[in-house]
Amino acid sequence: MADPTFSNPSRSKRGTSTGRILQTTFSVAFLLATLFTGFSPKMFSGDFGSIIASILTPQPDSGEIVPTTQKPVRIGIVSGHWGNGSDPGAVCPDGTNEHDINLAIASLVRQKLEARGYDIDLLQEFDPRLDGYQAALLLSIHSDTCDVIDAQATGFKVASSTYSHDQNLTDRLSACLYDRYGNVTGLTYRAGNVTVNMTDYHAFRAIDPSTPAAIIETGFLYLDRSLLVDNPDLVADGIVAGVLCFVRSESAQPVPTP
Ligand SMILES: [Zn+2]
Repeated sequence: MADPTFSNPSRSKRGTSTGRILQTTFSVAFLLATLFTGFSPKMFSGDFGSIIASILTPQPDSGEIVPTTQKPVRIGIVSGHWGNGSDPGAVCPDGTNEHDINLAIASLVRQKLEARGYDIDLLQEFDPRLDGYQAALLLSIHSDTCDVIDAQATGFKVASSTYSHDQNLTDRLSACLYDRYGNVTGLTYRAGNVTVNMTDYHAFRAIDPSTPAAIIETGFLYLDRSLLVDNPDLVADGIVAGVLCFVRSESAQPVPTP
């Protein structure tokens, strides 16, 4: 007769350790099954996760990254009426004014171009840096009156500098702006409304004549308010598309003459 006090603890001990081994085996099997069936790059956090994700995701060839061995392309953007306290430009009865609209758009243009590797100078209306300014291009951003004129007081206008050493190059800048801005925003071009204030714009005379320069009136504050005030991102996209057209030497439709 077996001694229960001897055999039972042994059997009991053996039983417990078999149970532990089985439990561990099942746990490891369960963990591995979970890892392999539920694998996703998102399971890894931080850099490793993004490296895995970038390997698994096809990368578009945007061709927009400026090679690090080259100097970044410099672009000047004038935010119309900025820094010119006495003149906020066009003002609406509710206080909405051109100065603020221009600055919102110009700041977005700067962000979007910097994100593509361009070197942006955001300039005030009478910025001292305009004197002899040298860059791949200079663009001044303005918008038109809030006065209720008529149903025609909608749309955009572009004018290029007549002081440029290379008029073909400068005209290509305004063609790119005309072509791309109109396509992106859907606004009509107002050829008949280009004023002397635009063609003889003060900054055109101040900058180095080797810098191609243009001015854009992005729309009218009254009839184009929903675009200018509520959707400055789209306005900026239109301007950026025009700038990229120029710096990449893409073709564009010429600016219509009245
Ligand atoms: Zn203005």
